[in-house]
Amino acid sequence: MDQSADASGIDLAWLAGALSAKRAEIEAELDLMSRLTTDMNGGTHGRPGDGTSVTVERLTQVAAYDRVGLLLSDVIRAQVKITDGTVGYCDRCGEVIQPARLRTLPWATRCVTCPAAH
Ligand SMILES: [Zn+2]
Repeated sequence: MDQSADASGIDLAWLAGALSAKRAEIEAELDLMSRLTTDMNGGTHGRPGDGTSVTVERLTQVAAYDRVGLLLSDVIRAQVKITDGTVGYCDRCGEVIQPARLRTLPWATRCVTCPAAH
């Protein structure tokens, strides 16, 4: 059981699989969102500014889009960390990221004590 006593203590094959699955999921979601946004743009010929509720709705969508986009950048960053060998180490302080944290949050690029990047 102690043969995998690398710093991360985590199964990299599993982690890579979890990350690519999550990335595919996020990319599908972004794709869907961008299509919905495009529909809203081109679907009607109403004058811009006609409906504030539409504007609010759009802003909410953009915020959701941004949030998902940030998650995607985390996932991509985590994939890079597997490649460059820094997986399991905090991007900010260099401390070991707890394996339990990576198991629940495979795209975590920082340890629990460091604030999120965003
Ligand atoms: Zn840290």
